Amino acid sequence: MTDKYAVIGNPIGHSKSPIIHKAFADQTGEDISYEAILAPLDGFEATVRALMADGYKGTNVTVPFKFEAYKICDSLSARALSSGAGAVNTLIHIDGKIHGDNTDGIGLRTDIEKNIDFQIANKHILILGAGGAAHGVLNSLLGASSITIANRTHGKALELVMGIRDCEVHAITFDSLERPYDLIINATSTGLTDTALPIPSSIFAKGCLAYDMMYGRETPFMKQAREAGAQVADGLGMLVEQAAEAFYLWRGVRPLTKPVIQLLRHA
Ligand code: NDP
Repeated sequence: MTDKYAVIGNPIGHSKSPIIHKAFADQTGEDISYEAILAPLDGFEATVRALMADGYKGTNVTVPFKFEAYKICDSLSARALSSGAGAVNTLIHIDGKIHGDNTDGIGLRTDIEKNIDFQIANKHILILGAGGAAHGVLNSLLGASSITIANRTHGKALELVMGIRDCEVHAITFDSLERPYDLIINATSTGLTDTALPIPSSIFAKGCLAYDMMYGRETPFMKQAREAGAQVADGLGMLVEQAAEAFYLWRGVRPLTKPVIQLLRHA
């Protein structure tokens, strides 16, 4: 019998998750269906419960429901707990209970280290933004020499670095940016509106990787980084890698991700 899965969000029409999971299922021979479901803004939990009653085995969660999803979980993975993000993107439905995990961090690290072949250890990292995405990936960057969070709202950057141990951390605003970094991750939502960030080009060190978590088109951040000589990447690989980790949690099988990244790039 086909096992049912879904991604829940609002809006959801843009989601590439159904294409990704169908490709994983075709590749691994797993008998699953996967669809995108629009939940009303005040109806996330009701949507999950209805899917569970209908036999769905798991769900992915996207904007704006990741924080609410965390709250309705009966149990959480060590990864979801230790990230301090208070957000999950993967739910496993077992015997009427909900187990939550967050695969965004491992998705980002796998894309950067395995697909792009850029090692995080001993690097000076700058994260632009302190919203849900930055929270979700911060712990996956431990092992760096230092992590600096620059955010428009300073208080949110401060809040984000407070939980970090075993790594030199800084919380700043954009106007303090000057020194160069080895890895710069744009985790703001400015790519969605084509807004340029107030950042100087001096922050891109020689050999710097500039990574935008947004995907689908070149953002002003990517353009500026390219012009400053940085290596540039978008977040498509992260999207596929976080999905692969969710697929593994549900099915116990690891799909190959590179062919799926290529499929989406050429779509
Ligand atoms: P949030 O709304 O939680 O956070 C938005 C962040 O952007 C905040 O830090 C906010 O700053 C900052 N920001 C917004 N507008 C501006 C502006 N005009 N100037 C400067 N800073 C601004 O969004 P998320 O964290 O959920 O998502 C961020 C991005 O990451 C999105 O583009 C999303 O698509 C992408 N993403 C990609 C994933 C992938 O798999 N590739 C996974 C998850 C997210 P302030 O605090 O001051 O408001």
